[in-house]
Amino acid sequence: EHGTMLSSKVQRDRLIGGLLAPGFDKHSCISRYRSALYRKESPHLISTYLLERLREHEVLQKKCGPNTESYKKAIEQLKSGQDIMAGDCNYLVWVSYSGLGNRILTIASAFLYAILTNRVLLVDGDKGTADLFCEPFPETSWLLPPDFPIVQFKNFSIGSPESYGNMVKAEAIHSDGSFKGPKPAFLYLHLAHDYDDYDKLFFCEHSQQHLQKIPWLILRSDNYFVPSLFLIPSYQEELTRLFPQKDVVFHHLGRYLFHPTNVVWGLITRYYDSYLARADEKLGIQIRVFDTETGPFQHVLDQVLDCTLKEKLLPEINAQQPIISTGNIRSKVVLITSLNSGYYERIRNMYWEHPTENGEIISFHQPSHEEHQDSDKKMHNMKAWAEIYLLSLSDVMVTSAWSTFGYVAQGLSGSKTWLMFKPENRTVPNPPCRQVMSIEPCFHAPPFYDCKTRRGTDTGKLVPHVRHCEDMSWGLKLV
Ligand code: GDP
Repeated sequence: EHGTMLSSKVQRDRLIGGLLAPGFDKHSCISRYRSALYRKESPHLISTYLLERLREHEVLQKKCGPNTESYKKAIEQLKSGQDIMAGDCNYLVWVSYSGLGNRILTIASAFLYAILTNRVLLVDGDKGTADLFCEPFPETSWLLPPDFPIVQFKNFSIGSPESYGNMVKAEAIHSDGSFKGPKPAFLYLHLAHDYDDYDKLFFCEHSQQHLQKIPWLILRSDNYFVPSLFLIPSYQEELTRLFPQKDVVFHHLGRYLFHPTNVVWGLITRYYDSYLARADEKLGIQIRVFDTETGPFQHVLDQVLDCTLKEKLLPEINAQQPIISTGNIRSKVVLITSLNSGYYERIRNMYWEHPTENGEIISFHQPSHEEHQDSDKKMHNMKAWAEIYLLSLSDVMVTSAWSTFGYVAQGLSGSKTWLMFKPENRTVPNPPCRQVMSIEPCFHAPPFYDCKTRRGTDTGKLVPHVRHCEDMSWGLKLV
């Protein structure tokens, strides 16, 4: 008896508390089954309703996914063009766009939208998506087949006449949702940072009703638009059931969706086992600098040290004595990620040249310094993903303002990071950092529009759980 209880517990932990479906081929995605050995159990409860909806969604993905009869039929209808009824299988196609952190956040947003609207999520496998992430849904594929008939879909942008915003602007959609001409088989949703007021109507209730009738939606975004979904009345009840605790949307959906492929898992585990595993405490520091020059910058180094010393994440050094002898042999590893190696070298040197006040033994590690963002290169993206994941295994984390790379690491880890504010005029902000209100990512380009009164409004002040972000005054985040 004891044996079966034990093995079912092991099984449950492997499937992270029932979040993951059983029934995958273990060898095809080792990280799915091994992550529980590296990552602490999530402190955030999952609602049983979310688990139910995930299982239902898996059934839908399988029933309507590539190579099924339903998919073939839907593709034939898409090719034939117009006036198609939305059937049992409706789709949301995610277009690969922007840096890896942004992509992860938009896939998660698209997935939540797909759950809310019962759409099958298909992702464009371009720019390495298939090399980075395992298939998340059992017995089917979420990769958009390469023979997808809307060949120009990767080039859709703000000006495309196929976009919902431009159709509304051109009055091709009436306010009751009927179309001036024949109803299109697909619409393009432009939700990227440069979107205009017409595109932003996406977040209005009436637009959601219009979109319901369209079997295929194609989405391009570089934003975590989940907070604004919480402001659409028709989704509120469902979202509350899915997430009774609202500040863990990305945490759960991210852990559900994003499992590193075996190649990336090799990068993660070799690094972890070699450099991080044996320490008593793991601190992650993510240094992301948004400047036209590459650096390293003195003010960034100062900010990292100000923040970590002030918040006692790193111990003070003793500049007077050459040796501090204590019985304390606590060890700490610090994982630094940055495009630049300068910060790591300076901090590591500081702790080599001087002892720590408290005798703590510290080692510093930086897996790569890629110098420039190069989001179309396979190994570059794999390293970025490995570093995001390694950061997320830290006990405590310091992250940089505005960075989706940091948001993803924090969301996957589930613990509140110390967020370093964005420096202005190359000076250290005061305070240099603060602990975040919630582990959710920030939506950088939210709409400020009240769909009912048709006027501008501060969408960060409408409900208590959608607020402005710590690091971007106009952004929105769930708390
Ligand atoms: P954001 O620009 O910080 O919001 O994050 P993104 O991930 O969307 O885009 C930044 C991209 O630059 C990453 O995806 C990486 O390709 C690269 N990058 C930025 N910081 C790092 C880092 O610390 N390590 C590695 N390996 N790549 C980084």
